[in-house]
Amino acid sequence: MRYPISRREFLKDTALAAAALSTSGLDLLASPSKSLERIGPPKKVIVLGAGLAGLSAAYELTQAGHEVTVLEAQTRPGGRVLTLRDPFSDGLHAEVGAIHIPDTHNLTLKYVQLFHLPLNPPLPHKLAWVEYLREKRMVYREDVEKPEHPFELTPEEEELGHWGLWGKYFMPKEVLEEIGDPSAPDWSVQSVKNYDEMTYTDFLRDQGLSSEAIALLTGSFLWGDGPESVSALTVLRDSVHLQGAKNWYEIRGGNDLLPRAFAEHLKDRIRYGSPVTRIEREEREVRAIFRQAGTHHRLAGDYLICAIPFSVLRHIEVIPPFSPEKRRAVEELPYFSAARVSLQSRTRFWQEEQGLMGFALTDLPIEAVYHMTRHQPGPRGILQSYSGGPQARGICALTESERVSFVLEQMEKVFPGMREHFEGGVSKCWDEDPWARGASSWYKPGQMSELWPHIARPEGRVHFAGDHTSAWIRWMQGALESGNRAAREVNEAAAQEEVRAA
Ligand SMILES: Cc1cc2nc3c(=O)[nH]c(=O)nc-3n(C[C@H](O)[C@H](O)[C@H](O)COP(=O)(O)OP(=O)(O)OC[C@H]3O[C@@H](n4cnc5c(N)ncnc54)[C@H](O)[C@@H]3O)c2cc1C
Repeated sequence: MRYPISRREFLKDTALAAAALSTSGLDLLASPSKSLERIGPPKKVIVLGAGLAGLSAAYELTQAGHEVTVLEAQTRPGGRVLTLRDPFSDGLHAEVGAIHIPDTHNLTLKYVQLFHLPLNPPLPHKLAWVEYLREKRMVYREDVEKPEHPFELTPEEEELGHWGLWGKYFMPKEVLEEIGDPSAPDWSVQSVKNYDEMTYTDFLRDQGLSSEAIALLTGSFLWGDGPESVSALTVLRDSVHLQGAKNWYEIRGGNDLLPRAFAEHLKDRIRYGSPVTRIEREEREVRAIFRQAGTHHRLAGDYLICAIPFSVLRHIEVIPPFSPEKRRAVEELPYFSAARVSLQSRTRFWQEEQGLMGFALTDLPIEAVYHMTRHQPGPRGILQSYSGGPQARGICALTESERVSFVLEQMEKVFPGMREHFEGGVSKCWDEDPWARGASSWYKPGQMSELWPHIARPEGRVHFAGDHTSAWIRWMQGALESGNRAAREVNEAAAQEEVRAA
C-alpha cells in the first residue's frame, strides 16, 4: 500500500508556508516589543559569543547607537542553532541544534518577521507516528483503532489514553497556574520551591500516576539525566511556556538563516575565530583577552555582555573573580548531554510506502526520531535520532562509524526498511563541542532555588545573556529574550553612570 505525499500536496504546503506568517495569525503573536532606544551616552560594549543571545544583544545595542564588538570563537554565527548541509546529497539539510519554533514564541517570531524569513508550515496530523516501547512497535494512525501497548495501566489511565495522560499530567493546569509566569521580572522561585525539591518522577507519582503510566510517559525523556534526576520545576516551568502552543514551525531553508541574518546586519562588528580566554574587570572598564591567529589580543570596553554557556565560562579566567554566588552558579549548573545522528535514506519509504510521518518515540538508546526533510524536495530523505543524558553519552563514547551503525541498527527496528535504503550518516554530540560543552542547562532537585537568583545578575560591568539566564532554557526564544534584557541593562547602566558623574 502506498501513502504518497503528492507533489501537489508538497507544493501546497510550500505555498502555505510562504503565506504562513500573514495568514495564520502569527502576525499578532509576533512580539510587538519596542526596539531599544538609547537613554544615555553611546558606550563601547564587548559581547562574548555570536549565538542568538549575543547577536540579539549586539543588534539592539547597535541599533540604539552603541559601539559593539562581538567576539566569537568559531568562524560562523549561531552557536547551538546549527543546520548541517554536509555531508548530505541533493542540497538536503538537517538541524542538529534548535528545530522547532512554537507559535507562542513571540520574540523568535518577531525576529523571523523582521528579517523576512519564510516559515515551513506545521506538521500535518494526517500521517501516522510510531512508538517503540518494551520491544513493541506501535503505529498510531488517526483513522485506525489505537494499538495495544505493553503497560498495565489503571482503568482511569487507560480511559485517558496516551494523549489524555500527557495533557493531564505533563501540563496540569492548576500546577501551571500556581507556578505563574516564570519570565515575569518579579517571578520568584521561592514561592514554588516545593516543585524544585522533588524529582519529576516524584511529581508524577504525587499526582497519582501509576508507575506503569510513568514508564509509558517517560520512555523517551529528553531532560537532564532522566526523570529521576531532574527538578520537577525545570520541566513544569518549560510547560508553562508551551501552554497554548498549537503549531510548531521551522525556518524554510534552515534555522541558521536567523543567526546569519543578524550577522549580516552586524557585519564586521563580529570578530570570528576569536575565543576569549580571560575577562579582566576594573572599576572604569572591562577587558576581554582573546586569541586570534595564534596571538593574544586585548579589547577594552565600558561594558561586557557574557553570552556564552556557563559550561564554557567555567573554563575562562576572570580577574578579579565574580562573587561567590555567581561562581557557584557557573561551576554547578548542569548541562544536558545530547546526541543527534542523521541518516540519509535513498527514498522516503516510511512516508511513501508506510504512510508514516517519520516521527517516533522509543525507549531504545535512540529515544526520539525526527524526519528532517519533510519540507525539502525528495526523493532522498533524512531520519534523525535524538538521544539525551546517559543514552547520548553511550552513543558518543563510540567512534563516528560505530555511532552511525549503532543508530542504523536501532532505527531499523522502528522504521523497518531503513537499512535497505541507507546511504550514509553523521553524528553531533553536544558534549564534544568545545564552544557548548553540552546541549542546554537544567537543574537537579533543589538547584533552581539555590542558583537561579544569581544566574542573570550582573557583576559590575559584566552582564549575562544566554538561554540559561532566561526562564525559557533550551529555546531560541530564551536566548533572544536574554539578549534583549542584557542590552536593556547596559543601556540603563550607561544612563545611570552619566547621572552619577554629573
Ligand atoms: C540538541 C538541541 C535541540 C534544541 N532544540 C531546540 C528547539 O527545537 N527549539 C528552540 O527554539 N531551541 C532549541 N534548542 C536551544 C537553542 O538552540 C538554544 O537555546 C540557543 O541557540 C542558545 O543560544 P545562546 O546564544 O544562548 O547560546 P549559544 O548558541 O551556545 O551561543 C554561544 C556562542 O558563544 C560562542 N563561544 C563559546 N565560547 C566562547 C569563547 N570562549 N569565546 C568566544 N565565543 C565563544 C559559541 O561558539 C557560540 O557561538 C536546542 C538546542 C540543542 C543543542
